[in-house]
Amino acid sequence: MSILRLEIVTAEHMVYSDDVNVVVAPGIEGELAILPHHAPLLTALQPGELRIRKDGEEIYLAISGGFLEVRPDKVIVLADAAERAEEIDVVRAEEAKRRAEERLKTHVPEMDLAQGEATLRRSLIRLKVAERRRKKRL
Ligand code: ATP
Repeated sequence: MSILRLEIVTAEHMVYSDDVNVVVAPGIEGELAILPHHAPLLTALQPGELRIRKDGEEIYLAISGGFLEVRPDKVIVLADAAERAEEIDVVRAEEAKRRAEERLKTHVPEMDLAQGEATLRRSLIRLKVAERRRKKRL
């Protein structure tokens, strides 16, 4: 099976770097499947789940938006934040969710509302990705 090189980086560190078979990313206009020999592409990502298929195995990451570039030699994801399922701190994500819900319940200016919604979304994505890992182990 042909492979493609994938690098997922944030401003702080390299989150993932390996040869994979398929990448499914949360594109700004919907899910985007990248297979080997995909045409060059640059697109924005929305917060969501990024799935990797490698040797018949699925690897899940939580992504908080960013960009995806398909180059002739590799695919680069430059993410605002990215965590592999096993790196997600579930207690922290639940706390962030609770705080965001609390914030959205109280009367806050529009700016806070948008921020609360974005935080809530990130926490829900992290919980979903962490749950995928839990299910895999059952
Ligand atoms: P929190 O309020 O818990 O910081 P947040 O959604 O505001 O959540 P971000 O701004 O998206 O956090 O991320 C800040 C940094 O913390 C990033 O490096 C991100 O990867 C990491 N991070 C955030 N939440 C978690 C989590 N639940 N588990 C592991 N890493 C996390």
